[in-house]
Amino acid sequence: MSSAPQPTVSNFIRTIIDTDLASGKHGGIVTRFPPEPNGYLHVGHAKSICLNFGLAQDYRGKCNLRFDDTNPEKESEEYAQSIQDDVRWLGFQWDGEVRWASDYFEQLYQYAIELIRKGLAYVDDLTPEQMREYRGTLTQAGKNSPHRERSVEENLDLFAQMRAGAFPDGSRVLRAKIDMASPNMNMRDPAIYRIRRAHHIRTGDAWCIYPMYDYTHCISDALEGITHSLCTLEFEDHRPLYDWVLDNVTIACHPRQYEFSRLELHYTITSKRKLLQLVTEGHVSGWDDPRMPTISGMRRRGYTPQGIREFARRIGISKSDNTVDMAVLESAIREDLELKAPRVMAVVKPLKVVVTNFVEGQTESREAGFHPNHPEFGARPVPFAREIWIEADDFSENPPGGWQRLAIGGEVRLRYSYVLRCDEAIKDASGNVIELRCSIDRDTLGKNPAGRKVKGVIHWVSCAHALPAEIRLYDRLFTVPEPDGDKSRDFCEFINPGSLVVAQGWVEACVKDAPPETCYQFERLGYFSTDRREHQPGSRPVFNRTVTLKDSWAKERE
Ligand code: ATP
Ligand code: MG
Repeated sequence: MSSAPQPTVSNFIRTIIDTDLASGKHGGIVTRFPPEPNGYLHVGHAKSICLNFGLAQDYRGKCNLRFDDTNPEKESEEYAQSIQDDVRWLGFQWDGEVRWASDYFEQLYQYAIELIRKGLAYVDDLTPEQMREYRGTLTQAGKNSPHRERSVEENLDLFAQMRAGAFPDGSRVLRAKIDMASPNMNMRDPAIYRIRRAHHIRTGDAWCIYPMYDYTHCISDALEGITHSLCTLEFEDHRPLYDWVLDNVTIACHPRQYEFSRLELHYTITSKRKLLQLVTEGHVSGWDDPRMPTISGMRRRGYTPQGIREFARRIGISKSDNTVDMAVLESAIREDLELKAPRVMAVVKPLKVVVTNFVEGQTESREAGFHPNHPEFGARPVPFAREIWIEADDFSENPPGGWQRLAIGGEVRLRYSYVLRCDEAIKDASGNVIELRCSIDRDTLGKNPAGRKVKGVIHWVSCAHALPAEIRLYDRLFTVPEPDGDKSRDFCEFINPGSLVVAQGWVEACVKDAPPETCYQFERLGYFSTDRREHQPGSRPVFNRTVTLKDSWAKERE
């Protein structure tokens, strides 16, 4: 396996771009990623980020980061900050400054006046209930509002008063005058401005009217000279409105919107509203809980930007259903870490072994390399002493057939060390094994024992030398592939009660000074990363399990 960049996978959007560049329609491409700062980004957004920024990179174009900040009640500075951090962490940089739809509020207002002047927008006084009633249904045409034929002058005056704060919230809207009988509900005179007295994170209280998303988005794209406006399929029915607005205002550029399917990832959810519910109801410790499918959660768990980008490459872009199993993401991460993570030994569920034929107080060290394929990662001494920790699961009192780990009277190889025989198990009053008495074969260091085969190899650490560590064993957050698939049940019912097990384990001392966000392979156990928030170099390490070594999810649950 190599870490060389993987070949790009073509898709219908690339084909369109290739055609547009070949025909000279565009000299270069400009894309944008347009999040609303109303939550943390998740793995679905990562797909969109990799697409938009990835295209700009590959075609030497530009990609803007533009906040769609038209919904002041739900938006916050914290969200906006986290989104910028996430995009940068994924390895992308937007062109120039961060942009905000609110930068265009004045221009958007002027374009609305243009539409009114052209007789293409009107102020409506219907109540929201009446509006719904007049709107009709999928099978029934809507009715024109009694205010639809207001004069241009009256509309200009009312709209100016709306802006000036003359009317209460929700009492009036500005609507595009399109077609109340359109088979496309989005074209039935959609509202383009509403009255809302809400403090805005950027414009404060300067405005009490806010433009609607559909109206804002296309104009913002055009003002920024976006060539290809890429969004998810649910916006397909909004495209006629996108085009209608741009066809009816005086603006130099008319970007084209293309839709692709959203990522749905099994065993998790990708709805900001539901992710927020997990946080507010305390099912997780926060937006960056390592079990969350948020970019900050994946980061904290130890997922790498390269692994996430590789995942995005593998799932591709199309218009057909993009439901992907978690195992696809996990293996992209695992393959990336396989190349990068130094390997050390750690014991998660410790069982003490006393090596009875090894002198107390004595230490013997052997050098072990950090990675079999990367000698440049270096090596560290692995100390051996009379008392060692092994994994409790590596010992069995009643071993099943084919058991290759430790059993009474049996032998295993201690990784990088001797062959060990178990002579006796010590139990507590209730019959639990609390310690093993074992002996080593001194003639097995770096060579096979004479006259017999020892198949099993187990990991271990020296009690006197290892560091105590908190090891958080994270698993999938949900027990079923589609936690929000059953509309009659709350998705929280499917939370995996074993999604976090906190273990007090032991790890080799060589990790002592590892900074936060350092990843190791714990041999035989998986990939583990020092916690971004709670790990401090030099003190008791805090590790998060990023991913196990093999995909054992399906097997364990058979
Ligand atoms: P909201 O309901 O809050 O608008 P959203 O998921 O659409 O939620 P945005 O912040 O508007 O969130 O999304 C920014 C961009 O990310 C949009 O272009 C959107 O299409 C894209 N996106 C969101 N979810 C996914 C997903 N699951 N797969 C691919 N792209 C997504
Ligand atoms: Mg959205």
